[in-house]
Amino acid sequence: MTNFSGQRDGRPTVARGNYILIAMPNVTRATAYRAAIDAAEYETVLARDGHEAQQELARRGQPLLLVLDLSLPKVDGFELLTQLRQTAKASDTAVVVVSGHATMRAAARRMAEPLDISRVLPADVDRVALREAVDAALNELNPQRRQPSVSAPLQAPAPLHDGGHSIEDVIEKAILAASRRFRLAVTIAYVKVQHHEYVRGYFAVSDGSGTPSATPALGFLRQIADGTDPLILPNVAGHPALAEIAPGGLPLIQGFAATPLPSRGNVSGTLCVMDTKILQMGAAELDALDALGRDLASDLAAHDSSSESVAAVAPATSELDSLERLASADPLTGLANRRGGERDISAEISRARRQSTALSCLLLDIDHFKNVNDTSGHQAGDYVLREISELLRRTVRAYDILVRWGGEEFLIVLPGVTPEQARKLAERLRLAVEQMPLSGIDGVTASIGVSALGKDYSFDAMFAEADRRLYAAKAAGRNRVA
Ligand code: GH3
Ligand code: MG
Ligand code: MG
Repeated sequence: MTNFSGQRDGRPTVARGNYILIAMPNVTRATAYRAAIDAAEYETVLARDGHEAQQELARRGQPLLLVLDLSLPKVDGFELLTQLRQTAKASDTAVVVVSGHATMRAAARRMAEPLDISRVLPADVDRVALREAVDAALNELNPQRRQPSVSAPLQAPAPLHDGGHSIEDVIEKAILAASRRFRLAVTIAYVKVQHHEYVRGYFAVSDGSGTPSATPALGFLRQIADGTDPLILPNVAGHPALAEIAPGGLPLIQGFAATPLPSRGNVSGTLCVMDTKILQMGAAELDALDALGRDLASDLAAHDSSSESVAAVAPATSELDSLERLASADPLTGLANRRGGERDISAEISRARRQSTALSCLLLDIDHFKNVNDTSGHQAGDYVLREISELLRRTVRAYDILVRWGGEEFLIVLPGVTPEQARKLAERLRLAVEQMPLSGIDGVTASIGVSALGKDYSFDAMFAEADRRLYAAKAAGRNRVA
């Protein structure tokens, strides 16, 4: 039995921790949940997979509240909760469970009593409903808890886009990409376009009966297609939702990860990888599967919209795609915009957490930039923004993340960089901006705030500190690093 809270002789020895644990593989969603919950009086800790969650529990003790996505890499959500309940009573830890799949929610409701689950919610629950559920769960725990204040809305991750050919080609390409990426025993794509269903599989194993087939998994694949999130069951053995998820069973399969294709027009489906062993797949890889599913959906939608029978949906679909693509890059400077940067930043933060490496950031703001616009014109202002972007691009390393955060404000995320190194880089940048030759314009200067990722691995906290320091640099006279 996993001993994750310093328990002795079956008795818990760790006091109730005053924090909220959000266990969820999708960082964007977890961050949105955190913002929605916004329980300022409690620390919120994010864990991207079951191992990370176990580590947090071991380190911090029982949380006040566990918000648990049942689709959790490495250690399945139900297993994690079962372990937690061996030491944490319902009066210690309230549990709100979410899933993007109706079958998983049904299983959770069935298990609500033995596992003391307060609420079961869809993963794309809106902010208000989430807040209500969390408040209710916490109130059951501790009636004196005060009402927290309102905060930001939930966001959905941005879909990707790619071109495509015939439907079969498109599906084939996606299967190859997924099987190369994950190298697991089975890769299957299920696609439904209007009333036609396609199932294609790539099998690196044989069931001994000759040609393996994906058809027995059809019911399973249809179920996943109806969900809203990637679903991962690292180990199906004894899983409480298996009978609902895969009524026919999954012969030979011990673990799987599957993602519903985002439905576009007439197209829906599932991209799925399976293994004959317990599935060793992390949250970043689950993101990668999700991205491959989105690529497949976009290719299929592009294909579908180019066929005459559904010409009416074509302009809307392709317009949407190009809008989404544009939306991740800033057209003036070519740098990532805030939305485009977030995915990369999330990935780097989870890497820093996994590998216990440093990560710092710089927030750079041009000084008195309004004056440039006012005295030399808006075009001159645009020119300065492009020149500074170029300078930043030349100065940072390939794997640093460079984002045009707002109008004349740039965020640079530096994986593997300590605060001291970040400060040196900031000073170099400040000097380079000051000395940057600009035709027809007097020089500009910039102020920079430096901060590092804390032990909570919170981007929001790191950003807030950089912002605070930037403000201090401005207040101290500008053209400086703080
Ligand atoms: P401070 O030193 O305090 O940062 O002063 P500031 O003038 O730089 O800051 P403020 O926030 O008052 O003004 C920022 C200006 O940046 C206002 C806005 O018109 C301009 N700006 C934002 N985006 C763009 C852009 O894309 N092109 C141009 N030309 N100007 C922009
Ligand atoms: Mg400024
Ligand atoms: Mg500014």
